[in-house]
Amino acid sequence: MDTTCTLHIGFDDTDSPKGMCTTFLAYKIVDYLKKQDSEFLDFPQLIRFNPNIPWKTRGNGAVSLKIKTKNPSKIKNKIKNFVSKYSDIKNGANPGLVFYENKTIPTHFTDFSKLALWQLINRNQAKKFASKNNLEIFFKGNGQGLVGAIGAIGYHFDDHTLELLSYRKPSKFGKERKISSQSVKVMQQKTFPYTFNSFDDKKSKVLITPHGPDPVFYGVRGEKVDSLLKATKILETEEKLEGHMIFKSNQGTGDHLKNTFTKTTLKPYASGTITGIVSCDPKIEKGGHVYFSINCNGDELRCAVYKPTGISSIVLGLIKGDKICVGGGIRKASKIHPRILNLEFIDVLDLKKNIKKSNPICTNCNKTMKSKGQNQGFQCIKCRKTSKNKINLEIPRKINKQLYLPEVSAHRHLSRPLTRLGKINKKSQFNESVSWFSVYDN
Ligand SMILES: [Zn+2]
Repeated sequence: MDTTCTLHIGFDDTDSPKGMCTTFLAYKIVDYLKKQDSEFLDFPQLIRFNPNIPWKTRGNGAVSLKIKTKNPSKIKNKIKNFVSKYSDIKNGANPGLVFYENKTIPTHFTDFSKLALWQLINRNQAKKFASKNNLEIFFKGNGQGLVGAIGAIGYHFDDHTLELLSYRKPSKFGKERKISSQSVKVMQQKTFPYTFNSFDDKKSKVLITPHGPDPVFYGVRGEKVDSLLKATKILETEEKLEGHMIFKSNQGTGDHLKNTFTKTTLKPYASGTITGIVSCDPKIEKGGHVYFSINCNGDELRCAVYKPTGISSIVLGLIKGDKICVGGGIRKASKIHPRILNLEFIDVLDLKKNIKKSNPICTNCNKTMKSKGQNQGFQCIKCRKTSKNKINLEIPRKINKQLYLPEVSAHRHLSRPLTRLGKINKKSQFNESVSWFSVYDN
């Protein structure tokens, strides 16, 4: 018999675009662990990493669990079987699983995790890290999932949100999800501001249901366990659900944009923010996307704002000389395009006065004077009053000195929504007695 130990379990990249889902695997594993003699020390953690890497599955989300157990070897073997069984390897999943036995997490684990939030980290770096630090690893395919698996264990929360994910019965996998959109709207109203991004009031669109073949029916994001449980009572679904699990997450924290870009970190697939001066006027191009450039300490950076963000038309109001702070991910240069920063937000810091030279206005008639010919001055056609020079006319700006965020339907998992601006949630104390995990009996 082993003595009691603290076991950290991390896994990632078990899903593929065709089905399955890392959080569902977590639900299955927790269901198993609950029946064993193991004690949960925290919520399951759902950590989203750099959303701008090219080989991510849907959301680049990894899961970690922290438990106390007397029988770690039995549990490890069982979890390996779970990962093998529930990973969609034939459709491109590259699952990674790591175990770490220790009460605390060393700070260099956290450093690794922080880098994975905004950089491109390859699987060989993860394998090296694992062998250096006595992590037990298990992987299939190319093992890319090891990056997230280690990152999920090492993650340290400064702020967090919760997400309650509900799962479908296997007979419903792949079928259309039917939920009363009125109930989602009401749920959002009744739980505001302790849930967020559930319903797009502007477009009357339900945001909590995914559209793929995965086992998730809905996911409600918020700040407090009781608000999420209340939400499940309000939501009306047409089918009976299998159960739910609440994850502690970095979703909605803007975590990937904490990196401030420097000359050396402006690399393909990196995420972060940068401040600069608009150096060419924005132009709308094919598909309604808007492009412009900023100058950051002498370097030009091309920026793109895609139409679905809903802020492309706002950005058109920028002019040369405006000072802005922008955040997003770097798209790799192609033959026809330079490297581009895909904007996820724009914070307008300073607006240049938009001055246009214009014909003078007659002080008697309040009419614009006509030119009498080159260098001949100007004259009012009504009262014949003349004036020598053009005047400076200040054109009102169409954009304000403020932060602009994409529409909620264009939010990424990590995007910080308006309701969470300035909010730091440290309060979700884990408690075994709350219903953070539930298999419904129906
Ligand atoms: Zn006049």
